[in-house]
Amino acid sequence: MKPDFHCHTTASDGSLTPCELIDRAVSQGITHLAITDHDTTKGYEEARECAQQQGICLVPGSEISCQWRGHTIHVVGLGVDVTHPRLQSGLQYNRVLRWKRALAMEDRFRQKKGWSLLPDILPQVKEGMIGRNHFAQALMAQGHVSTQKQAFDRFLKKGKPMFVDVVWPSLAEITQWITQAGGMAIVAHPHLYKLTSNKLNQMLVEFVNAGGQGLEVVNQPRVCSEQFAMAQRAEKFGLYASMGSDFHRPEQHWRNLGWLQPLPARCRPVWEWLAARGQFESVPCAKTSTDV
Ligand code: AMP
Ligand code: MN
Ligand code: MN
Ligand code: MN
Repeated sequence: MKPDFHCHTTASDGSLTPCELIDRAVSQGITHLAITDHDTTKGYEEARECAQQQGICLVPGSEISCQWRGHTIHVVGLGVDVTHPRLQSGLQYNRVLRWKRALAMEDRFRQKKGWSLLPDILPQVKEGMIGRNHFAQALMAQGHVSTQKQAFDRFLKKGKPMFVDVVWPSLAEITQWITQAGGMAIVAHPHLYKLTSNKLNQMLVEFVNAGGQGLEVVNQPRVCSEQFAMAQRAEKFGLYASMGSDFHRPEQHWRNLGWLQPLPARCRPVWEWLAARGQFESVPCAKTSTDV
C-alpha cells in the first residue's frame, strides 16, 4: 500500500486539475489517495470518476481552516459524506471569509503598491475557493517576486504588510462539522504552527474533547525528529496517525505525491479506521482493505 492523504488541486490552490492529479498519483504508484482541497470537497467530487477509471482508491476529504487561541490551524477531514448539509454550509461560510479577505488584500496591494492582482487571479479561481497562494502566483506572473516563498516572505505571511487576518470558526466547531458528516478530523502538519510543546498538547486535548481523532504524523520524504515526536503525541492522546505530502504543484520539486516516510512503529494508521467503516469500498480500490 502506498497512501497519500493530503494534497491539492485547482479546486483550491494546487496547479493540477483533479483528473491530472489522479494521473500523477497513479504514475507515482499511489494506491490510496485523499484530495484535501482547502475549504471545499469539489476536488474529490471532480476526481471520483477518473479515480474509478484508474482503479485508485480515493477517499473523500477537505482541509479546513479554523482557529485556536488566535492561531490558524488546518484540520483535514477524511471519509466525510460530502453531501452533508452542515459540512457544506460550513465550507461555504469559510469560502465567504476567503472572498472578504481577498477583497481586503486587493485594496491593500492597490493602495500601498498600486498593483491590481484580482484580474489575474479570477480566471484561476475554480469553485469559489480563493487563497493566498493565488495572490502569490499573480505576484509571480506580474514579475513582482520570483518565487512563491518570496511572495509569502515579503507580502503574504503573518506580520507582513498585505496580511489580512481572518477569524475562522473555532477548532471545536469545524471538528464537529467533520464528525457530523461521518468523517475523521485530523490536525494537519502539526509542526508548522509555531506552538510550544505545551500549547500543542493543550490544543490536542481540546481537539480530542471536540471529537477529533487523528494527527498528521508524517508529511516529509526524509526522516525527521518531528515525526517521532508527533507519533508519541498520537499515542499519548489516542489519535490515529495520518500521512500526506501536502502536494500543490509539480514545480515544488522537494515534495511529491507519496514521497513520505513510513509511519513510525506503534502508530495506529488512519486507514484502519477508514477500512473498518467501509470507506475503501465506496470507490473501487486497487487493493482491498485486507491488504492495507
Ligand atoms: P490560505 O489558506 O489561503 O491562507 O493559504 C494557505 C496556503 O498558502 C498554504 O496551504 C500553502 O499552500 C501556502 N503557504 C502558506 N504559507 C506559506 C509560505 N510561508 N510559503 C509558501 N507557501 C505558503
Ligand atoms: Mn495550500
Ligand atoms: Mn495546510
Ligand atoms: Mn494542505
